[in-house]
Amino acid sequence: MSSGTRTTAPRRVVVTGGAGFVGSRLCAALLAADAEVVCVDNMLTGLPGNLGALRGHPGLHVERSDIADGLTSPSARAALRPGVDLVMHLASPASPVDYLDHPIETLDAGSLGTRAALDLARAHGARFVLASTSEVYGDPQVHPQTEDYWGNVSSVGPRSVYDESKRFGEALTAGHRRALGTDTGIVRIFNTYGPGMREHDGRVVPTFVRQALAGEPLTVAGDGSQTRSLCFVDDLVAGLLTFAGSGHPGPMNLGNPDELSVRRIADDVIRATGSPSRVEYVERPVHDPGMRCPDITLARSVLGWEPRVAWPDGLSRTVSWFRSRARGAG
Ligand code: NAD
Ligand code: UDP
Repeated sequence: MSSGTRTTAPRRVVVTGGAGFVGSRLCAALLAADAEVVCVDNMLTGLPGNLGALRGHPGLHVERSDIADGLTSPSARAALRPGVDLVMHLASPASPVDYLDHPIETLDAGSLGTRAALDLARAHGARFVLASTSEVYGDPQVHPQTEDYWGNVSSVGPRSVYDESKRFGEALTAGHRRALGTDTGIVRIFNTYGPGMREHDGRVVPTFVRQALAGEPLTVAGDGSQTRSLCFVDDLVAGLLTFAGSGHPGPMNLGNPDELSVRRIADDVIRATGSPSRVEYVERPVHDPGMRCPDITLARSVLGWEPRVAWPDGLSRTVSWFRSRARGAG
């Protein structure tokens, strides 16, 4: 197990969940860095169109399957034969709407899926990176959240299918490292937004942008005073790649500490779109965390990483992307 920064870029990478919002941007960044990529996705919440611009790229192999089933098809075996340097495990529903719609699949992705992805990495002597989440902190009582905080999570509430799945995935990853010496790393990703999100995936930014562009009311949950800290997707992808190359075991927070209330996010979306929409207050989801903000001291010091894209700029790029999609150009 290494702990220093690696000198060679990964040549062959398996990205699970590679047709999703973050995964597809990650695949694009890896291909741009001349890596070969095996994208594994069962399209549960992904969009084949996310990989559209990459289709036909000689470095990309897309395997449409559930990672929990292992990669045993003849085409997958052929794609893996030259070896694997890095496995990045992103496969999991991530939006609350999605994981509440797919509770069992979510638990399977974090447990069976993580196990299969870890075993794949070990079989190839590859590094493994788990895309964990700020949701492991639940409704936090420590603010901002540092990696040594154990969290405040219900094991039986509706969100537990995601939170506990990720917490189990972290435990499995840590256990693999301790028991088997697998080169593992855990990143805890905070709310990320940007081009490539499904307009109906239910998360706050795509929902508000879709509503504003349609002139519909923006559905603010509760009184909108709860907070989130929003990271632009390209910043996150840069952090993921730097972390993968660092050999660091984590857990490490990756996110943008610029903390905003949900009401402020709604106001900013209305302003950025020039929409006539107004805000409509709706019922707050059960166990909706009251606040969330990453402490990124560790990422700054170990990786030299921090977000570069400020919210107004990231929001404007996101709005442009949604507008171009609406015009059929996306
Ligand atoms: P997403 O839903 O857009 O992408 C997830 C992808 O995983 C989808 O393409 C889906 O089809 C695929 N998938 C799900 N189960 C699978 C399985 N069993 N086998 C193969 N593929 C499967 O979500 P996202 O926002 O891109 O999130 C990616 C990862 O990052 C997730 O693991 C998520 O938990 C983590 N994360 C994301 C955020 C965020 O704000 N985007 C925050 C914290 C953590
Ligand atoms: N939210 C909202 N209206 C929506 C969607 C989300 O007010 O239409 C709120 C949600 O209740 C939460 C915050 O926005 O307080 C972030 O929700 P999201 O689903 O994006 O991610 P979470 O951080 O909860 O996983």
